[in-house]
Amino acid sequence: MTFDRQLNVLGRRPKAELVEYVIRAFMGVDGARRFVEDEARLRAFVWKVSRLYRNNPYHNFQHAVDTTNAMAWMVTRPGLSKRLPDLYVFVLILAALVHDLEHPGTDNQWEIKTRSRLAEKYRNEAVLENRSLDGTFDLLQDSECALLAGLPPDTHNECRRLLGIVIIATDFATHQAFLKELRTHLHTKGTDFSDPEGLSLLARTLIKAADISNTTKAFPLARLWGRRVMREYWAQGRKEKRRGLPVGPLNDPDKVAFHEAQAEFIETQVQPLFDMLVTVESSIGEAAETLTENRLSYLRLSSHRTQ
Ligand SMILES: [Zn+2]
Repeated sequence: MTFDRQLNVLGRRPKAELVEYVIRAFMGVDGARRFVEDEARLRAFVWKVSRLYRNNPYHNFQHAVDTTNAMAWMVTRPGLSKRLPDLYVFVLILAALVHDLEHPGTDNQWEIKTRSRLAEKYRNEAVLENRSLDGTFDLLQDSECALLAGLPPDTHNECRRLLGIVIIATDFATHQAFLKELRTHLHTKGTDFSDPEGLSLLARTLIKAADISNTTKAFPLARLWGRRVMREYWAQGRKEKRRGLPVGPLNDPDKVAFHEAQAEFIETQVQPLFDMLVTVESSIGEAAETLTENRLSYLRLSSHRTQ
């Protein structure tokens, strides 16, 4: 099956349609389908996941579906599918679906600044990612949607271990350190990701790329996603101001200019990741090219505004 990286899941779409995109990602990718023993159980799992996502402007079920579809597109690229063992493919699609489960619409810094129970529980480390991971493990215990129940014990343990590595990697606090790690790997080992450390690095690269892949869509759609993320940040900024807490760098609607912020995000965070990914799989180049065009479009819009 082929996947459309330009898929638009925004707008008024029935949830059942979004659920079907997720089912297609599992069932339409050979490596992942191997681990789905019962499609009805998978469907029950996805519906439960959809209810555990909140109605946030950005971190909602639509983002989960979009990330899952982007992951299905990436793992079916020839240079990536040949490098990834089937279990990794399955875990990557699963992780893309659940990586922001129960996201409250405010970020890790909010949890830490408000000294929340979650921050305490996870000792200020990847607070929301740990929560999504634990929420997923809870869900997998539920007999109706116990996706991993039939796996042999070793595979089951490996699946849980990988899921942890991949979901925790979506914490943006470690993004620059991650880029450095990937750069070093490409300099020293090239595009060989065959040993366990290499595979873990490749898996983390793919979840991070899928997570921010909405910036690589055609500009009107990329901008809609950008607006949603900023709406969520600005809502947090207003809450921070009300509580007299320090306002996060992107959260102050009076200080952050949307177009400039998006252009800078692409330049410093997204483009370096996609440029490196292109050296592993050349067909990712089409996403990297759109990304460059989008950055230029944001810059053009920002210069119009200030003139
Ligand atoms: Zn995400």
